[in-house]
Amino acid sequence: MEEKVMLEECPICRGPGMLLHEGGWNVQVECADCSAHTVYVEYGSEEEKKAAEETVIHLWNIGKVVTSERGE
Ligand SMILES: [Zn+2]
Repeated sequence: MEEKVMLEECPICRGPGMLLHEGGWNVQVECADCSAHTVYVEYGSEEEKKAAEETVIHLWNIGKVVTSERGE
């Protein structure tokens, strides 16, 4: 069974977004080009994992990302 993840382009640079799992217990979306990223969302089960993925994908798609750029 395959699932397609609908990730928009990076809200900062229009680069490709990647769904990244770390340590098997949290997930975020990060831009392959500029390293903008969403917050991490933790999960403790397969069900929570799915919900966590959906959460970070949603945050990404609405442009709620963190960048490491300095200066406001
Ligand atoms: Zn980017």
